Amino acid sequence: MNQISRPNNLEAFWMPYSDNKYFKDTPRLLARAEGMHYYTPEGREVLDGTAGLWCSNAGHGRREIIEAIQKQAEILDFAPTFQLGHPIAFECAARLAEITPPGMDRVFFTNSGSESADTAIKIALAYQKARGQAQRVRLVGRERGYHGVGFGGMSVGGIGGNRKQFGAMLPYVDHLPHTHDLAANAFSRGTPAHGAHLADQLENLVALHGDTIAAVMVEPIAGSTGVLVPPAGYLERLRELCTKHGILLIYDEVITGFGRIGKDFGTERLGVQADIMTMAKGLTNAAVPMGAVAVHNDIYDAIVNGVENGIELFHGYTYSGHPLASAAAIASMNIHRNEDLPGRALAIEDYFADGAHSLRGLPNVIDIRNFGLIAGIELSPRPGKPTQRAMDIFRRCFDDGLLIRVTGDIIALSPPLIIEKGHVDRIFNTLGEAIQAEAA
Ligand code: PLP
Repeated sequence: MNQISRPNNLEAFWMPYSDNKYFKDTPRLLARAEGMHYYTPEGREVLDGTAGLWCSNAGHGRREIIEAIQKQAEILDFAPTFQLGHPIAFECAARLAEITPPGMDRVFFTNSGSESADTAIKIALAYQKARGQAQRVRLVGRERGYHGVGFGGMSVGGIGGNRKQFGAMLPYVDHLPHTHDLAANAFSRGTPAHGAHLADQLENLVALHGDTIAAVMVEPIAGSTGVLVPPAGYLERLRELCTKHGILLIYDEVITGFGRIGKDFGTERLGVQADIMTMAKGLTNAAVPMGAVAVHNDIYDAIVNGVENGIELFHGYTYSGHPLASAAAIASMNIHRNEDLPGRALAIEDYFADGAHSLRGLPNVIDIRNFGLIAGIELSPRPGKPTQRAMDIFRRCFDDGLLIRVTGDIIALSPPLIIEKGHVDRIFNTLGEAIQAEAA
Protein backbone atom coordinates (compact mmCIF):
# COMPACT_ATOMS: atom_id res chain seq x y z
CA MET A 1 0.00 0.00 0.00
CA ASN A 2 1.26 3.50 -0.82
CA GLN A 3 2.69 5.46 2.05
CA ILE A 4 1.49 9.04 2.59
CA SER A 5 3.73 11.27 4.66
CA ARG A 6 2.59 12.35 8.09
CA PRO A 7 2.15 16.12 8.59
CA ASN A 8 5.11 17.86 10.26
CA ASN A 9 2.99 20.27 12.24
CA LEU A 10 0.02 18.98 14.21
CA GLU A 11 -0.34 22.10 16.34
CA ALA A 12 -2.07 24.58 14.06
CA PHE A 13 -5.25 22.58 13.47
CA TRP A 14 -7.56 23.04 16.48
CA MET A 15 -9.40 19.77 16.17
CA PRO A 16 -13.17 19.68 16.66
CA TYR A 17 -14.73 17.62 19.47
CA SER A 18 -11.30 16.26 20.33
CA ASP A 19 -8.89 15.86 23.19
CA ASN A 20 -6.30 17.94 21.28
CA LYS A 21 -3.47 17.37 23.74
CA TYR A 22 -3.93 13.61 23.82
CA PHE A 23 -4.29 13.34 20.06
CA LYS A 24 -1.21 15.42 19.37
CA ASP A 25 0.81 13.24 21.76
CA THR A 26 -0.41 10.01 20.20
CA PRO A 27 -1.83 10.85 16.78
CA ARG A 28 -4.00 8.36 14.92
CA LEU A 29 -4.20 9.51 11.32
CA LEU A 30 -6.32 8.38 8.40
CA ALA A 31 -4.67 9.25 5.11
CA ARG A 32 -6.57 7.39 2.41
CA ALA A 33 -9.82 5.48 1.99
CA GLU A 34 -11.39 3.01 -0.38
CA GLY A 35 -14.56 0.96 -0.12
CA MET A 36 -14.99 -0.30 3.45
CA HIS A 37 -11.52 0.74 4.59
CA TYR A 38 -9.36 3.61 5.70
CA TYR A 39 -5.57 3.45 5.50
CA THR A 40 -3.10 5.08 7.86
CA PRO A 41 -0.19 7.09 6.45
CA GLU A 42 1.93 3.94 6.80
CA GLY A 43 -0.61 1.97 4.75
CA ARG A 44 -2.20 0.01 7.59
CA GLU A 45 -5.81 -0.99 6.83
CA VAL A 46 -8.59 0.10 9.20
CA LEU A 47 -12.11 -1.28 8.70
CA ASP A 48 -14.63 1.54 8.80
CA GLY A 49 -17.26 0.61 11.38
CA THR A 50 -18.76 4.10 11.41
CA ALA A 51 -19.03 5.23 7.76
CA GLY A 52 -16.63 8.01 8.76
CA LEU A 53 -19.05 9.91 10.98
CA TRP A 54 -22.29 8.22 9.94
CA CYS A 55 -21.90 9.65 6.47
CA SER A 56 -20.02 7.62 3.83
CA ASN A 57 -22.96 5.30 3.24
CA ALA A 58 -21.82 4.11 -0.20
CA GLY A 59 -18.31 3.40 1.01
CA HIS A 60 -15.21 5.47 0.27
CA GLY A 61 -13.59 6.67 -2.91
CA ARG A 62 -16.54 6.09 -5.19
CA ARG A 63 -15.40 6.80 -8.79
CA GLU A 64 -18.83 8.07 -9.86
CA ILE A 65 -18.77 10.77 -7.19
CA ILE A 66 -15.14 11.71 -7.75
CA GLU A 67 -15.70 12.10 -11.49
CA ALA A 68 -18.91 14.10 -11.03
CA ILE A 69 -17.08 16.56 -8.76
CA GLN A 70 -14.14 16.82 -11.16
CA LYS A 71 -16.41 17.41 -14.13
CA GLN A 72 -18.47 20.04 -12.33
CA ALA A 73 -15.35 21.88 -11.17
CA GLU A 74 -14.37 22.32 -14.82
CA ILE A 75 -17.81 23.63 -15.79
CA LEU A 76 -18.70 25.96 -12.92
CA ASP A 77 -16.70 26.25 -9.71
CA PHE A 78 -19.11 28.60 -7.99
CA ALA A 79 -22.04 30.86 -8.65
CA PRO A 80 -24.32 32.49 -6.10
CA THR A 81 -27.87 31.31 -5.50
CA PHE A 82 -29.10 34.61 -4.04
CA GLN A 83 -31.41 36.10 -6.67
CA LEU A 84 -29.57 34.01 -9.29
CA GLY A 85 -29.32 30.34 -10.01
CA HIS A 86 -27.21 27.69 -11.67
CA PRO A 87 -28.61 24.57 -13.31
CA ILE A 88 -27.12 21.83 -11.18
CA ALA A 89 -28.58 23.14 -7.88
CA PHE A 90 -32.08 22.93 -9.37
CA GLU A 91 -31.37 19.48 -10.77
CA CYS A 92 -30.08 18.36 -7.37
CA ALA A 93 -33.16 19.67 -5.53
CA ALA A 94 -35.49 17.98 -8.03
CA ARG A 95 -33.63 14.67 -7.62
CA LEU A 96 -33.78 14.96 -3.85
CA ALA A 97 -37.51 15.77 -3.96
CA GLU A 98 -38.02 12.48 -5.82
CA ILE A 99 -36.93 10.51 -2.77
CA THR A 100 -38.24 12.69 0.06
CA PRO A 101 -41.64 11.57 1.42
CA PRO A 102 -44.73 12.48 -0.61
CA GLY A 103 -45.77 16.11 -0.27
CA MET A 104 -42.30 17.21 0.89
CA ASP A 105 -41.08 18.48 -2.45
CA ARG A 106 -39.42 21.76 -1.48
CA VAL A 107 -35.77 21.69 -0.54
CA PHE A 108 -33.55 24.34 1.09
CA PHE A 109 -29.80 23.69 0.82
CA THR A 110 -27.28 24.16 3.63
CA ASN A 111 -23.72 22.93 4.19
CA SER A 112 -24.03 20.73 7.26
CA GLY A 113 -26.36 19.06 9.70
CA SER A 114 -25.99 21.94 12.13
CA GLU A 115 -27.03 24.46 9.51
CA SER A 116 -29.92 22.21 8.54
CA ALA A 117 -31.15 22.16 12.15
CA ASP A 118 -31.00 25.94 12.46
CA THR A 119 -32.62 26.36 9.06
CA ALA A 120 -35.46 24.01 10.00
CA ILE A 121 -36.07 25.97 13.19
CA LYS A 122 -36.15 29.28 11.31
CA ILE A 123 -38.52 27.90 8.68
CA ALA A 124 -40.84 26.59 11.42
CA LEU A 125 -40.94 30.00 13.10
CA ALA A 126 -41.44 31.81 9.78
CA TYR A 127 -44.25 29.42 8.85
CA GLN A 128 -46.12 29.93 12.10
CA LYS A 129 -45.87 33.68 11.59
CA ALA A 130 -46.97 33.43 7.96
CA ARG A 131 -50.10 31.51 8.92
CA GLY A 132 -51.08 34.07 11.53
CA GLN A 133 -49.72 32.25 14.59
CA ALA A 134 -46.94 34.67 15.45
CA GLN A 135 -47.31 33.82 19.14
CA ARG A 136 -45.82 30.39 18.40
CA VAL A 137 -42.20 31.20 19.19
CA ARG A 138 -41.39 28.29 21.47
CA LEU A 139 -39.40 25.21 20.46
CA VAL A 140 -39.46 21.79 22.04
CA GLY A 141 -36.56 19.36 21.80
CA ARG A 142 -35.77 16.22 23.74
CA GLU A 143 -33.24 15.49 26.44
CA ARG A 144 -30.16 13.84 24.92
CA GLY A 145 -31.13 15.06 21.46
CA TYR A 146 -28.33 16.18 19.13
CA HIS A 147 -29.00 18.73 16.44
CA GLY A 148 -25.51 20.02 15.80
CA VAL A 149 -23.63 22.94 17.21
CA GLY A 150 -25.34 26.12 16.03
CA PHE A 151 -27.18 28.03 18.75
CA GLY A 152 -30.55 26.82 17.47
CA GLY A 153 -29.66 23.15 17.29
CA MET A 154 -27.63 23.31 20.49
CA SER A 155 -30.50 24.91 22.42
CA VAL A 156 -33.13 22.51 21.14
CA GLY A 157 -30.65 19.67 21.58
CA GLY A 158 -30.49 18.12 24.99
CA ILE A 159 -26.89 17.17 25.68
CA GLY A 160 -25.61 19.07 28.69
CA GLY A 161 -21.95 18.65 27.80
CA ASN A 162 -22.48 20.44 24.50
CA ARG A 163 -24.05 23.48 26.16
CA LYS A 164 -22.23 24.07 29.40
CA GLN A 165 -19.38 26.21 28.00
CA PHE A 166 -21.58 28.59 26.09
CA GLY A 167 -23.75 30.51 28.50
CA ALA A 168 -27.31 31.40 27.61
CA MET A 169 -29.03 29.35 24.95
CA LEU A 170 -31.98 30.41 22.81
CA PRO A 171 -34.86 31.56 24.98
CA TYR A 172 -38.25 29.83 24.84
CA VAL A 173 -37.01 26.27 24.51
CA ASP A 174 -38.32 23.32 26.48
CA HIS A 175 -37.56 19.61 26.38
CA LEU A 176 -39.34 16.29 26.41
CA PRO A 177 -37.80 13.52 28.50
CA HIS A 178 -35.39 11.17 26.73
CA THR A 179 -36.51 7.62 26.06
CA HIS A 180 -33.54 5.71 27.48
CA ASP A 181 -34.70 3.21 30.10
CA LEU A 182 -32.27 0.41 30.84
CA ALA A 183 -34.42 -1.05 33.61
CA ALA A 184 -37.27 -1.68 31.17
CA ASN A 185 -35.58 -2.04 27.80
CA ALA A 186 -32.01 -3.37 28.17
CA PHE A 187 -30.86 -5.61 25.30
CA SER A 188 -33.85 -4.75 23.08
CA ARG A 189 -33.58 -5.79 19.45
CA GLY A 190 -35.06 -3.10 17.25
CA THR A 191 -37.79 -0.97 18.75
CA PRO A 192 -37.96 -1.27 22.56
CA ALA A 193 -41.34 -2.18 23.97
CA HIS A 194 -41.57 0.30 26.80
CA GLY A 195 -41.85 4.08 26.70
CA ALA A 196 -44.50 5.27 24.20
CA HIS A 197 -46.14 7.16 27.08
CA LEU A 198 -43.11 9.49 27.27
CA ALA A 199 -44.46 11.31 24.21
CA ASP A 200 -47.49 12.28 26.29
CA GLN A 201 -45.25 14.72 28.13
CA LEU A 202 -45.93 17.01 25.20
CA GLU A 203 -49.45 17.43 26.63
CA ASN A 204 -47.87 18.77 29.82
CA LEU A 205 -45.76 21.24 27.86
CA VAL A 206 -48.84 22.40 25.95
CA ALA A 207 -50.66 22.81 29.27
CA LEU A 208 -47.72 24.91 30.46
CA HIS A 209 -47.06 26.96 27.34
CA GLY A 210 -50.48 27.07 25.67
CA ASP A 211 -50.48 27.82 21.96
CA THR A 212 -46.97 29.26 21.93
CA ILE A 213 -45.15 26.14 20.71
CA ALA A 214 -44.02 26.38 17.09
CA ALA A 215 -42.30 23.04 16.61
CA VAL A 216 -41.03 19.87 18.19
CA MET A 217 -37.69 18.61 16.87
CA VAL A 218 -36.41 15.07 17.46
CA GLU A 219 -34.13 12.57 15.81
CA PRO A 220 -36.18 9.52 14.75
CA ILE A 221 -33.32 7.48 16.22
CA ALA A 222 -31.02 9.50 18.45
CA GLY A 223 -27.51 8.70 17.24
CA SER A 224 -24.85 10.96 18.69
CA THR A 225 -26.10 10.58 22.24
CA GLY A 226 -25.43 6.86 21.99
CA VAL A 227 -28.10 5.21 19.85
CA LEU A 228 -31.55 5.57 21.41
CA VAL A 229 -34.19 3.74 19.38
CA PRO A 230 -37.72 5.12 19.83
CA PRO A 231 -40.03 2.91 21.89
CA ALA A 232 -42.82 1.23 19.92
CA GLY A 233 -45.66 3.72 19.42
CA TYR A 234 -43.67 6.74 20.65
CA LEU A 235 -43.27 8.58 17.35
CA GLU A 236 -46.88 7.87 16.38
CA ARG A 237 -48.02 9.47 19.64
CA LEU A 238 -45.77 12.48 19.13
CA ARG A 239 -47.15 12.93 15.60
CA GLU A 240 -50.71 12.71 16.90
CA LEU A 241 -50.13 15.32 19.58
CA CYS A 242 -48.30 17.71 17.26
CA THR A 243 -51.17 17.58 14.78
CA LYS A 244 -53.76 17.97 17.54
CA HIS A 245 -52.07 21.10 18.90
CA GLY A 246 -51.01 22.81 15.65
CA ILE A 247 -47.31 22.17 16.32
CA LEU A 248 -44.90 21.30 13.51
CA LEU A 249 -42.94 18.07 13.81
CA ILE A 250 -39.33 18.31 12.64
CA TYR A 251 -37.40 15.10 12.12
CA ASP A 252 -33.65 15.44 12.21
CA GLU A 253 -32.75 12.81 9.63
CA VAL A 254 -29.07 13.73 9.42
CA ILE A 255 -28.15 10.19 10.48
CA THR A 256 -31.26 8.20 9.64
CA GLY A 257 -31.54 9.54 6.09
CA PHE A 258 -30.22 7.89 2.95
CA GLY A 259 -30.74 4.25 3.72
CA ARG A 260 -29.19 3.91 7.15
CA ILE A 261 -32.24 2.16 8.57
CA GLY A 262 -33.29 0.27 5.46
CA LYS A 263 -35.46 2.85 3.67
CA ASP A 264 -34.66 6.16 2.01
CA PHE A 265 -35.50 7.98 5.25
CA GLY A 266 -36.24 7.05 8.84
CA THR A 267 -39.69 8.54 8.47
CA GLU A 268 -40.53 5.85 5.91
CA ARG A 269 -39.24 2.91 7.91
CA LEU A 270 -40.75 4.12 11.15
CA GLY A 271 -44.03 4.94 9.47
CA VAL A 272 -44.49 8.45 10.81
CA GLN A 273 -44.22 11.52 8.62
CA ALA A 274 -42.78 14.82 9.74
CA ASP A 275 -43.60 18.31 8.46
CA ILE A 276 -39.97 19.33 8.09
CA MET A 277 -36.97 17.06 7.67
CA THR A 278 -33.27 17.83 8.00
CA MET A 279 -30.55 16.01 6.10
CA ALA A 280 -26.78 16.11 5.56
CA LYS A 281 -24.04 13.43 5.72
CA GLY A 282 -25.21 10.66 3.34
CA LEU A 283 -26.66 13.24 0.94
CA THR A 284 -23.26 13.60 -0.76
CA ASN A 285 -21.73 10.47 0.74
CA ALA A 286 -19.74 13.14 2.62
CA ALA A 287 -17.51 13.77 -0.39
CA VAL A 288 -18.39 17.50 -0.34
CA PRO A 289 -20.16 19.11 2.63
CA MET A 290 -23.86 19.62 2.01
CA GLY A 291 -27.05 19.60 4.04
CA ALA A 292 -30.67 20.12 3.14
CA VAL A 293 -34.05 20.76 4.68
CA ALA A 294 -37.14 19.32 3.00
CA VAL A 295 -40.46 20.89 3.92
CA HIS A 296 -44.06 20.04 3.29
CA ASN A 297 -45.33 21.92 0.25
CA ASP A 298 -47.91 23.74 2.41
CA ILE A 299 -45.12 25.24 4.50
CA TYR A 300 -43.29 26.52 1.45
CA ASP A 301 -46.52 27.89 -0.02
CA ALA A 302 -47.51 29.68 3.18
CA ILE A 303 -44.15 31.42 3.47
CA VAL A 304 -43.53 32.14 -0.20
CA ASN A 305 -47.07 33.11 -1.15
CA GLY A 306 -47.41 35.12 2.02
CA VAL A 307 -45.14 37.82 0.56
CA GLU A 308 -46.37 39.79 -2.41
CA ASN A 309 -42.95 40.54 -3.84
CA GLY A 310 -39.37 40.60 -2.68
CA ILE A 311 -37.41 38.09 -0.64
CA GLU A 312 -39.72 35.68 1.18
CA LEU A 313 -37.31 34.08 3.64
CA PHE A 314 -34.39 36.10 4.98
CA HIS A 315 -32.10 33.14 5.29
CA GLY A 316 -29.46 31.38 3.21
CA TYR A 317 -25.78 30.51 2.91
CA THR A 318 -23.21 31.64 0.36
CA TYR A 319 -22.77 27.98 -0.49
CA SER A 320 -26.45 26.90 -0.55
CA GLY A 321 -26.65 24.54 -3.53
CA HIS A 322 -22.90 24.78 -4.22
CA PRO A 323 -22.15 23.32 -7.67
CA LEU A 324 -19.59 20.77 -6.45
CA ALA A 325 -21.82 19.65 -3.59
CA SER A 326 -24.79 19.39 -5.97
CA ALA A 327 -22.72 17.25 -8.33
CA ALA A 328 -21.63 15.01 -5.46
CA ALA A 329 -25.21 14.71 -4.20
CA ILE A 330 -26.60 13.74 -7.61
CA ALA A 331 -23.88 11.12 -8.07
CA SER A 332 -24.51 9.80 -4.55
CA MET A 333 -28.25 9.62 -5.13
CA ASN A 334 -27.56 7.67 -8.34
CA ILE A 335 -25.56 5.12 -6.37
CA HIS A 336 -28.20 5.10 -3.64
CA ARG A 337 -30.85 4.19 -6.20
CA ASN A 338 -28.88 2.03 -8.68
CA GLU A 339 -27.30 -0.09 -5.96
CA ASP A 340 -30.39 0.00 -3.75
CA LEU A 341 -28.39 0.94 -0.67
CA PRO A 342 -31.49 0.95 1.58
CA GLY A 343 -32.29 -2.57 0.35
CA ARG A 344 -28.71 -3.68 1.06
CA ALA A 345 -28.96 -2.31 4.58
CA LEU A 346 -32.27 -4.09 5.07
CA ALA A 347 -30.89 -7.38 3.75
CA ILE A 348 -27.99 -7.47 6.19
CA GLU A 349 -29.55 -5.81 9.24
CA ASP A 350 -30.46 -9.08 10.98
CA TYR A 351 -26.96 -10.44 10.54
CA PHE A 352 -25.58 -7.16 11.88
CA ALA A 353 -28.00 -7.30 14.84
CA ASP A 354 -26.93 -10.89 15.59
CA GLY A 355 -23.30 -9.75 15.59
CA ALA A 356 -24.04 -6.87 17.93
CA HIS A 357 -26.06 -8.99 20.36
CA SER A 358 -23.35 -11.68 20.36
CA LEU A 359 -21.42 -9.30 22.63
CA ARG A 360 -24.00 -9.76 25.38
CA GLY A 361 -22.38 -11.31 28.42
CA LEU A 362 -18.95 -9.75 27.83
CA PRO A 363 -17.51 -7.88 30.81
CA ASN A 364 -19.05 -4.45 31.53
CA VAL A 365 -21.57 -4.64 28.68
CA ILE A 366 -24.83 -3.38 30.21
CA ASP A 367 -26.91 -2.88 27.07
CA ILE A 368 -26.95 -3.55 23.36
CA ARG A 369 -29.48 -1.87 21.08
CA ASN A 370 -29.84 -1.74 17.32
CA PHE A 371 -31.96 -0.67 14.39
CA GLY A 372 -31.10 -0.89 10.69
CA LEU A 373 -27.34 -0.55 10.36
CA ILE A 374 -26.95 1.21 13.69
CA ALA A 375 -25.89 -0.45 16.91
CA GLY A 376 -25.13 0.90 20.37
CA ILE A 377 -23.18 -1.04 22.98
CA GLU A 378 -23.33 0.54 26.40
CA LEU A 379 -20.63 -0.17 28.96
CA SER A 380 -20.63 0.42 32.67
CA PRO A 381 -18.20 3.29 33.29
CA ARG A 382 -14.98 2.79 35.21
CA PRO A 383 -15.72 3.91 38.77
CA GLY A 384 -15.10 7.65 39.01
CA LYS A 385 -13.75 7.78 35.45
CA PRO A 386 -16.60 8.07 32.98
CA THR A 387 -15.78 7.70 29.25
CA GLN A 388 -12.32 6.18 29.88
CA ARG A 389 -13.36 2.56 29.42
CA ALA A 390 -14.93 3.28 26.04
CA MET A 391 -11.96 5.41 24.92
CA ASP A 392 -9.59 2.62 25.86
CA ILE A 393 -11.63 0.20 23.74
CA PHE A 394 -11.69 2.71 20.89
CA ARG A 395 -7.88 2.87 20.90
CA ARG A 396 -7.50 -0.90 21.10
CA CYS A 397 -9.89 -1.35 18.15
CA PHE A 398 -8.08 1.27 16.08
CA ASP A 399 -4.75 -0.37 16.73
CA ASP A 400 -6.33 -3.72 15.76
CA GLY A 401 -7.63 -2.29 12.47
CA LEU A 402 -11.20 -1.25 13.29
CA LEU A 403 -12.73 2.22 13.51
CA ILE A 404 -15.55 2.52 16.03
CA ARG A 405 -17.13 5.63 17.55
CA VAL A 406 -17.60 6.26 21.23
CA THR A 407 -19.82 8.74 22.97
CA GLY A 408 -19.56 8.68 26.73
CA ASP A 409 -19.31 4.99 27.60
CA ILE A 410 -21.39 3.94 24.62
CA ILE A 411 -19.92 2.45 21.47
CA ALA A 412 -21.85 3.45 18.36
CA LEU A 413 -21.53 1.50 15.12
CA SER A 414 -22.87 2.67 11.76
CA PRO A 415 -20.88 1.05 8.93
CA PRO A 416 -21.20 1.91 5.23
CA LEU A 417 -24.31 0.29 3.75
CA ILE A 418 -22.16 -1.72 1.32
CA ILE A 419 -20.97 -3.83 4.25
CA GLU A 420 -20.77 -7.61 3.73
CA LYS A 421 -21.02 -10.47 6.20
CA GLY A 422 -17.24 -10.89 6.49
CA HIS A 423 -16.93 -7.24 7.56
CA VAL A 424 -19.69 -7.69 10.13
CA ASP A 425 -17.83 -10.68 11.57
CA ARG A 426 -14.60 -8.71 11.73
CA ILE A 427 -16.26 -5.75 13.44
CA PHE A 428 -17.79 -7.81 16.24
CA ASN A 429 -14.82 -10.16 16.67
CA THR A 430 -12.38 -7.26 16.96
CA LEU A 431 -14.69 -5.29 19.23
CA GLY A 432 -15.41 -8.32 21.43
CA GLU A 433 -11.69 -8.98 21.85
CA ALA A 434 -11.06 -5.32 22.73
CA ILE A 435 -13.86 -5.34 25.34
CA GLN A 436 -12.38 -8.47 26.89
CA ALA A 437 -8.81 -7.19 26.78
CA GLU A 438 -9.81 -3.92 28.45
CA ALA A 439 -11.46 -5.81 31.29
CA ALA A 440 -8.56 -8.25 31.80
N1 PLP B 1 -28.16 16.36 13.59
C1 PLP B 1 -27.85 15.08 13.85
C2 PLP B 1 -28.94 14.12 14.16
C3 PLP B 1 -26.53 14.66 13.84
O1 PLP B 1 -26.24 13.40 14.14
C4 PLP B 1 -25.52 15.59 13.51
C5 PLP B 1 -24.12 15.17 13.49
O2 PLP B 1 -23.75 14.08 13.86
C6 PLP B 1 -25.89 16.90 13.26
C7 PLP B 1 -27.21 17.26 13.29
C8 PLP B 1 -24.84 17.93 12.96
O3 PLP B 1 -24.29 17.73 11.71
P1 PLP B 1 -22.94 18.49 11.30
O4 PLP B 1 -21.85 17.92 12.15
O5 PLP B 1 -22.81 18.18 9.84
O6 PLP B 1 -23.16 19.93 11.55
